[in-house]
Amino acid sequence: MFWADNVAKNIIDSGKFKPYWVDDMFTPSGFAHVGSLRGPLVHDIVFKALRDAGQKTKWTYVINDFDTIDGLPKELIQDFEKYLGVPLRLAPSPEKGYESFAEFFAEDFKNVLRGLGVEAEFLSSWDMYHEGKFNEVIRIALDNAEKIQDIYQKVSGSRKKDLGWLPLQVICEKCGKLGTTRVYEWDGETVAYKCEPEMVKWAKGCGHEGRVSPFDGNGKLPWKVDWPAHWKVMGVTIEGAGKDHSSAGGSRDIARELCKDVFNYPDPFNIPYEFFLIGGKKMASSKGLGLKARELAEVLPQNVARFLFTRTDYKKAIEFDPVGTLAIPNLFDEYQRCADAYFAIKEGKEGDEDLARAFEFSQIGNVEKPPKIRFSVLTQWVQMPNMEEEIKKEGLEEWARYARTWLEEFAPEKDKFEILKTVPENAKNLSDKQKEFLVSLSKEVAKDWDAEDFQTRIYDLGKETGLNGKDTFAAIYISLTGKDHGPKAAWLILSLDKKFVEERFSAFEV
Ligand SMILES: [Zn+2]
Repeated sequence: MFWADNVAKNIIDSGKFKPYWVDDMFTPSGFAHVGSLRGPLVHDIVFKALRDAGQKTKWTYVINDFDTIDGLPKELIQDFEKYLGVPLRLAPSPEKGYESFAEFFAEDFKNVLRGLGVEAEFLSSWDMYHEGKFNEVIRIALDNAEKIQDIYQKVSGSRKKDLGWLPLQVICEKCGKLGTTRVYEWDGETVAYKCEPEMVKWAKGCGHEGRVSPFDGNGKLPWKVDWPAHWKVMGVTIEGAGKDHSSAGGSRDIARELCKDVFNYPDPFNIPYEFFLIGGKKMASSKGLGLKARELAEVLPQNVARFLFTRTDYKKAIEFDPVGTLAIPNLFDEYQRCADAYFAIKEGKEGDEDLARAFEFSQIGNVEKPPKIRFSVLTQWVQMPNMEEEIKKEGLEEWARYARTWLEEFAPEKDKFEILKTVPENAKNLSDKQKEFLVSLSKEVAKDWDAEDFQTRIYDLGKETGLNGKDTFAAIYISLTGKDHGPKAAWLILSLDKKFVEERFSAFEV
């Protein structure tokens, strides 16, 4: 069974987790990396599997815009250092047209997600806190501060915090920072706090001390408490997280205990998904490795990009290493294979159902039949002159654009070729037989050939000259491109100007 259908089945069969409410979240502190796409895509696919199973399901994606800025992308350090410690929603946008730092990065990621067919309803954590929706859980957390500490200690083995620690931070009324405040007293109505100059390394508090209501957006729960608090406030019943959060003693374990002992809320169904690896390294937004999520659309059509996530079970890591490899052409090939299975089943023929589902879940809106021609062949076509007509005729313009991008940005050297305007230097080293063959071939070019027949004729002509297949075709490639390999010779020659090819081949006359 397709992995997401299996997850949906497990959820339904358990009889718990109703009403079905799938949720995930994102902190808009910089441009998201490709790796950050796995969470929302896994959740979106599971949501659609539940929907396909006839279940009424809600799907929300929370933007954690009440989080503190605790680090900055390199290019922003100079101008935004003074906002370290400030909530993402209170710092200005790096570019005009957005109301805040949070909105700028959140909008960017939302656009990427919508482009990939993610159908979640987006919610703002800041807004929910400011609308008073978190007031009840804040009260519960403050009343149970001791118990929360015990859970931290029991589950993750962390050291007991200072006496009087309370699970809340408030926005300093003087300097507007959240990440620097220490809340140390709770009287049931207000909390006392100090904006500490030395509490964290990355931001300096102003030293202000005050008392303030913890409610209506004045304060925020620390994220380990905030996570399960969201579940209770919203009614979430299904939420996964990267497997690093789900390891023993990790934040997911803490959240489960908090649900049970503090919030009195049933633990949601977990989907501990594996990483998305690029070049074998785990992508972390702080390290600046690999592709940004927004750049994926330049590299892959959106259906194929989405397919990257539908094709792999959430329990397996996705390894996507496009630089200097065939990862991208291979992905297209696999996409076509899965499409074939899908359309075979549609037409009542045999086909692998898992592959068909992987294709079906990759479709955004209406199901689109992909081109028949293989992407790897297309990468050759776009390098041949005079193939524009053919590409247009076959309706391959969209994929051709991605084929060109692949060649420019990612292709191994051996997959690139160029028809050289003059006879390549190394063509002089061709054997006499190879030269003789090229001259014979020059006399065949002008005929009105069908590509398949011409390919056979080339092979036979080589044989007649006393060459094996390898040397026959190498002669053609070397004479045109200077490399000893290339796309199917007949197609290559027929894509070129006949006069040009005749002249090139006949130049080897001894
Ligand atoms: Zn302050």
